[in-house]
Amino acid sequence: MDTIKNETQALTDFITIDILNNSSLFAVYIIDLETFEVIFTNQSMKSIMADEKAKNCWESIYAQSAPCHWCKVHELSAANSNESIIYEHFNEVANKWYQIQEKILITEKGERILVSFALDISMQKEAQSQLINAHVQLSHQTKALKAAEEELKQQANHDYLTDLYNRRYFQQISQDLINIAKREAIKLSIIMLDIDKFKMVNDTYGHSAGDQVLKHLALVLTEHTRKSDIVARIGGEEFAVLLLNSDKNSAAVIAEKLRETVDGQSVPIDGETHISFTVSLGVASVDVENESNIDTALNRSDTALYRAKTSGRNKVMVE
Ligand code: GH3
Ligand code: MG
Ligand code: MG
Repeated sequence: MDTIKNETQALTDFITIDILNNSSLFAVYIIDLETFEVIFTNQSMKSIMADEKAKNCWESIYAQSAPCHWCKVHELSAANSNESIIYEHFNEVANKWYQIQEKILITEKGERILVSFALDISMQKEAQSQLINAHVQLSHQTKALKAAEEELKQQANHDYLTDLYNRRYFQQISQDLINIAKREAIKLSIIMLDIDKFKMVNDTYGHSAGDQVLKHLALVLTEHTRKSDIVARIGGEEFAVLLLNSDKNSAAVIAEKLRETVDGQSVPIDGETHISFTVSLGVASVDVENESNIDTALNRSDTALYRAKTSGRNKVMVE
């Protein structure tokens, strides 16, 4: 703690300077630490006092019924040094944020006094909160944007009803796979499927029952093919499977398995009705050496599919 000769005089001189007394920048008060009475306030401080006539600082300045819990006098006394303390505090009476600098001084008479300077930082605090808010909002928006972007990607590549790949993505990914297959000498084959007499399913049971049949078929296709195979809904009731590492013959075996599975199952609608249906399938291999896109192979499997249809449906034909 400072013991300052002539300090009181110097301090008195200081605080009586007009600029300090009338400063609108700082609110200043001095407290007698024996009695905790407020012995000086500048104009600025006066305007934010809770009750000027109250006996002690916690009542007169902060409208507290007991010493303020944020009071730094104890801390400053313990520091046993010349140091001042700086902290931020929200003054409930003034409804403002202050940056407060406080110091204990000892007068010539040996009286301990607390000198407190408070700078109004409400505007900075407000700007800071707005900045934090903007930051939080921005990070939320960025997250939402990313999610929306993922969702858009999903929508762009997938069929909304069955969640299988759509035609556009099937063609795009097939192109990539043909390039890889060419490089790695991998065999590729295609199975094209079309539901038999699907119009009749819609006409008999309704369009939403027809939708459930489409979803059921999508599940059969994903469950009975490998994860590396590409399963897509390429038209209303037309599907295609691009099989990796499969020649025409093994693709035909898989196609026959799919046909049998569909033929052997029925789709429960509303718990009571069960819809049985069949599919026709066309199989073709992709000539990865000579074909640069999937269209030619798709056409060949479509031709095979057509033959399956015209020869009685519920069949697999290989081109
Ligand atoms: P085929 O054996 O010759 O293929 O006969 P089909 O009745 O299956 O063929 P067609 O081309 O005459 O009819 C296809 C039907 O598929 C007509 C159309 O309403 C229906 N369809 C297409 N997309 C959807 C869909 O998303 N939901 C439903 N429920 N039906 C669809
Ligand atoms: Mg069709
Ligand atoms: Mg059909």
